[in-house]
Amino acid sequence: MTTPTGQVVLLGRLREIAGPAHVLTEQACAPYLTDWRKLVTGRALAVVRPATTEQVRDVVRACLEHGAPVVPQGGNTGQVAGATPDDTGRAVVVQMGRMKRIRSIDIENDTLVVEAGCVLQEVQEAAGAAGRLFPLSLGAEGSCLIGGNLATNAGGTQVLRYGNARELTLGLEVVTADGEIWNGLRALRKDNTGYDLRDLYIGSEGTLGIITAATLKLFPLPVAQRTALAAMGGVEQAVALLTRARSVLGADLTGFELMSSVATDLVLRHYPDQRVPLRAGAPWFVLLESSDSESAERAASRFEALLAAAFEAGEIQDAAIAESVAQSRAMWHLRESITLALAAEGKCAKHDISIATSRIPGFVTSTDALLQQRFAGVRSATFGHLGDGNLHYNILQPSGTPATTFVEVQNELSRLVHNAVRDHAGSISAEQGIGGLRTADLQRYEDPVKLDLLRRIKRALDPAGLMNPGKVLP
Ligand SMILES: Cc1cc2nc3c(=O)[nH]c(=O)nc-3n(C[C@H](O)[C@H](O)[C@H](O)COP(=O)(O)OP(=O)(O)OC[C@H]3O[C@@H](n4cnc5c(N)ncnc54)[C@H](O)[C@@H]3O)c2cc1C
Repeated sequence: MTTPTGQVVLLGRLREIAGPAHVLTEQACAPYLTDWRKLVTGRALAVVRPATTEQVRDVVRACLEHGAPVVPQGGNTGQVAGATPDDTGRAVVVQMGRMKRIRSIDIENDTLVVEAGCVLQEVQEAAGAAGRLFPLSLGAEGSCLIGGNLATNAGGTQVLRYGNARELTLGLEVVTADGEIWNGLRALRKDNTGYDLRDLYIGSEGTLGIITAATLKLFPLPVAQRTALAAMGGVEQAVALLTRARSVLGADLTGFELMSSVATDLVLRHYPDQRVPLRAGAPWFVLLESSDSESAERAASRFEALLAAAFEAGEIQDAAIAESVAQSRAMWHLRESITLALAAEGKCAKHDISIATSRIPGFVTSTDALLQQRFAGVRSATFGHLGDGNLHYNILQPSGTPATTFVEVQNELSRLVHNAVRDHAGSISAEQGIGGLRTADLQRYEDPVKLDLLRRIKRALDPAGLMNPGKVLP
């Protein structure tokens, strides 16, 4: 553990490495010390903003030498407080925003090498400028960084077609917890040379090392896209529509998002310029999108045939197909505004869960009923990536009740939800990770043998225990 004198020496060393302008202390650190949901505020000795992989390595080495914890941070949009230091004030936050070079693009190999500090949207744009698609897409894409996406193995809205961040990555460059640079940027689609370190660092939430660059996969841009919003009476109908859409569209089905009317009503309340473009009200909506590789005509006819058949089968009550890019964007905007509307609404117990799609209707019906029995009046603002079996099963305090009453029961409520997830053979963290908020849940619900293996990996790769301590494994 570093002493006060050691801290002064460490600060001096960090200034030498990154330049004095890029070592923030005291008040200047504040924007980096509270998580996106404003649930946790920590303290830090400094926030360092390195510009190169070598600077990241030297920062990690200096911290190791002085026993200072290292907290990697990207865009700080994570939902589980993984990038927030504890309140001891000893940690050095390594904010990656200055490492934002697109290093290279290889069209023949369909790959792109980017630094960890590139904003996700910039990566999408770089791919688009080369006539290719980088399909990772999520509501925070204008501010999250690709390094953060990889460290959390982010999911998003096109997983059912292209996979999670892990499936989109061929190689990584990492500064290890020992302060070494591992160059694993090889752009290979096949490489069976020993244990897969890439897959170990992806999703490790900054607890094993700092990702400094990545080789990402590119895909052809779709020739035409169709987007629709469909209304239905229940989650069962939404799952039936998903099964139908998969069999009609196959790999061309690129988005399938479920939204309860509780969630969309919140968006309309907090963002009155938005609207649900359907005539009748319904308890559930699905936003679906297809991407066609042949022609606009083919895309339109298959999409319309799918919705007509679903209407005839009683799966949907109403549907609106976007007639322009602007209408499609407005539908996605409605979906992507839910997280922000929830934050504006008040206290919310959030659960990022994953369950086999076939079991989701039963889960929602039985868990909603259990919640009403035990916590009458709470509001289930459920939405999520139904195509991946991933629900954001979020529970809001009853309208008109004080937030403090809800905070008192929140742990009990989350226990009820996570017990139900376990009973449905699901996962308590689908895409957001464990961070600092779900460590106790991981211990409670994860297989003990797996937990033991995770701890042994952590000890082997971070023997000093200084890499994002307290996150994932307490
Ligand atoms: C409106 C909104 C919508 C969202 N939608 C989705 C969604 O659909 N799908 C989804 O998966 N997530 C979603 N998220 C959550 C969040 O955007 C993702 O988790 C994102 O991948 C985090 O990236 P970040 O750069 O903000 O990382 P941060 O929040 O800064 O960090 C997240 C974790 O990664 C670690 N980390 C960051 N950078 C590095 C690095 N270079 N090396 C090692 N560790 C690092 C941190 O220590 C921390 O543990 C959403 C968030 C918001 C606010």
